[in-house]
Amino acid sequence: MPNAEVLTINAADKTFTTRSGESIHAIDNVSIEIQPGEFFILLGPSGCGKTTLLRALAGLEELDSGEIYLGDQRLDVLPPHRRPVNTVFQSYALFPHLSVEENVAFGLQMDKLSKRETADRVHEMLDLVHLSQKASSRPSELSGGQQQRIALARALAKSPKVLLLDESLSALDFKLRREMQDELKSIQRHTGITFIFVTHDQEEALSMGDRIAVFSQGKPSQIGTAQDIYDAPKTRFVADFIGDINFFEGTLAQDGVVESNNARLKLSEDAASVGVGSAVTVAVRPENMRLEEPREGLLQGTLTSKVYMGTDIRCHVRLASGGHVLLRVPPALQYGRFTEGSQVSIAVDPKHTRIVEG
Ligand code: ATP
Repeated sequence: MPNAEVLTINAADKTFTTRSGESIHAIDNVSIEIQPGEFFILLGPSGCGKTTLLRALAGLEELDSGEIYLGDQRLDVLPPHRRPVNTVFQSYALFPHLSVEENVAFGLQMDKLSKRETADRVHEMLDLVHLSQKASSRPSELSGGQQQRIALARALAKSPKVLLLDESLSALDFKLRREMQDELKSIQRHTGITFIFVTHDQEEALSMGDRIAVFSQGKPSQIGTAQDIYDAPKTRFVADFIGDINFFEGTLAQDGVVESNNARLKLSEDAASVGVGSAVTVAVRPENMRLEEPREGLLQGTLTSKVYMGTDIRCHVRLASGGHVLLRVPPALQYGRFTEGSQVSIAVDPKHTRIVEG
């Protein structure tokens, strides 16, 4: 069992200067605590700093300031090979001239393990990734998914306390990627090692992460479980980056009600910190609204499209006050009476309305 130690990133900061003299603040005063055995995701759009942070953890990038600890051990002052951390790169970085087992054994031989110990460990790792029967193949004889597994076996062979994975599944096709997501998760659970996984794919992050840090411009905009991030986004950026969302601009009236688009939106409990009369943005997911006959007090509009998607019906409504709203309604509800061009009202489920910042 690996050592159960918290990985602490404390006030990490890194600025690059490009050749043209431009300063890029790639990591902006980031502090994160990652729990032992956690599957932690760094998620965000291209250029938000997630790879730089991963490289700093690996020791491939030096921080300008800040510290990284694993338990009590300070890591950022150690060279990469002295850190109890290993990385699986997007490109797999397998040695083409070595067999699968030689690839997996490579790091162990550098550690001067006995032949017997090395062979046992390689065997165990190939078993873990279900590729024992390919031990003597060359990487070029393997599929993309199999190469990915070998890269994983090689990285795990040295029993790192933390495994870093940089966009590791992005080269795989959709179906294989799904399979590998499940498999990675199960290997992580089996080994109990802390995994830190970089991706820009929201669905991948939601389905795999125990917790997700959604990055924007060099720092986390929010850190939480998939459910926190999806159901209770704190910022406009997070709400928008994860799945479909509708935003309603308005003013907070008395008793947790926002007046917006000539309608009154009831809020869930999260309005407390905002003063009455403040301008606010309310975020609502498309599945948390219903179509109704036109009714005073609700959002009013015209149904402009209605598309059957199997699990739900996607409806676009053009609001009378301007702007569009997307709804996803269950096919089981009888919406036959509403056709394209119908005048409709939109009822918003108060349990799922959030005020977001930004
Ligand atoms: P992607 O998903 O595209 O890899 P990312 O979120 O991983 O993006 P980083 O690669 O960490 O982002 O880059 C963060 C910012 O720092 C970007 O603006 C990038 O151009 C810049 N950057 C990264 N490495 C360097 C470097 N060696 N020199 C100059 N700028 C750099």
